[in-house]
Amino acid sequence: GDMIRSVLESWRERITSEGWDWEQTQAALAGERLALEVRALLDVEARRGVRHAINVSGVVLNTGLGRAPVHHAVAQRMAQVAGGFCVLEVDRETGRRNQRDARLGELLSRLTGAEAGIAVNNNAAAVLLLMHAFAKGREAIVSRGELVEIGGSFRIPEVLESAGARLVAVGATNRTRLADYRQAIVQTTGLLLKVHTSNYRVIGFTEEVDPKELASLGREHSIPSAWDLGSGRIEARGANSLDRIGGETEVREAVASGVDVVTFSGDKLLGAPQAGLLVGTREAIARLRNCPMYRALRLDKVGLAGLEATLELLLEGRGDELPARRMLLMGGAETKRLCDEAKVELSDLPGITVRVVASHSEPGSGSAPTVTLPGYCLQVDIPGLSPQRAATALRLATPPVFARVQEDSLWLDLRTLLPGELADLRRALAQVLDAHLGT
Ligand SMILES: *Cc1c(COP(=O)(O)O)cnc(C)c1O
Repeated sequence: GDMIRSVLESWRERITSEGWDWEQTQAALAGERLALEVRALLDVEARRGVRHAINVSGVVLNTGLGRAPVHHAVAQRMAQVAGGFCVLEVDRETGRRNQRDARLGELLSRLTGAEAGIAVNNNAAAVLLLMHAFAKGREAIVSRGELVEIGGSFRIPEVLESAGARLVAVGATNRTRLADYRQAIVQTTGLLLKVHTSNYRVIGFTEEVDPKELASLGREHSIPSAWDLGSGRIEARGANSLDRIGGETEVREAVASGVDVVTFSGDKLLGAPQAGLLVGTREAIARLRNCPMYRALRLDKVGLAGLEATLELLLEGRGDELPARRMLLMGGAETKRLCDEAKVELSDLPGITVRVVASHSEPGSGSAPTVTLPGYCLQVDIPGLSPQRAATALRLATPPVFARVQEDSLWLDLRTLLPGELADLRRALAQVLDAHLGT
């Protein structure tokens, strides 16, 4: 109704402003133009919103496409909890109210070696909570080389400011020493903070403070120390290690450095739903839990259920089944096999040439900025259709497909295709070819 009204309104304006008479108006409206305009608007509307998409961009943790896909068993548990009631904040034996994330804390402890842990909406929220709990109305000391911006609007100095903390930046962009932190400590210092430079690297003549030293400096002055780790690499028994992709610090290692709190994302290397995790000493985590901001930033039941389920899989030695992890660790030979199979599946589509070529994928989300993942891709050629236009048509297909354009061709990177999605990919390609060949 709204769409019809808005189309009619724009025609009314056009007729008045152009001063059309009856005949001119008749001519302009010929050939069902009104109906077509309404139809076009409805089509645009139907394509909007958050919905399933196929990622063949080769960027595993693609923020635009929702970062880490969760394990199917995890997705099932999340759907169940979302579509019904669940045991969230009640003890099943006594029927009394309890803490919703007690079990999560235990799982995090087992996986990271930390005494305790809690979760909030995302890692940005984790850092915000950290600032509120430890540095509100106080100083937070951070290295100049670590005043990072993540994802456009999340800048460490601004987060500090919005939490009512005063930033004390120490050292130089390329070098910061422990003495710089030591000299900046005053009576009202609330936090010593280390931030992982997730999405860039400072190379050359550089020096950063060893987290162990930062932690002991904090203890010496009774000032809490924290490390925003970002990517959240957790290794568990029975799963292949992520050390191949960039040597990101393990959460367990960060905890062992002795800092009071370590923060990281749920949906980067961990491969869980979106979340921000905070692990550390019992005392520090209790302080975070008691901060009023925690109530505003904490996870909902669906996220909590998904996170618990993911951590359980890791503890059961099934980490290799997590889709994001599997995609990140997929070897070149396996991407070749996927491509060979898909090539057979797609080659009979009319008006298309498919080749298997060597290429690189990316971890994405600043989880390992200097790392590329070697493998194979499908290079697709559609005569008469430029790769840019083909990529656009694929994005607008059902389901939407996100490919990449590189060296003036269309590339389908199957590393990021989930099992069972090949038929959908074929369907979307067929729509694009139909529309192209039909015109
Ligand atoms: C990604 C990242 C964040 C933000 O995490 P989100 O989960 O995207 O909110 C914060 N700090 C660092 C170092 C990061 O890498």
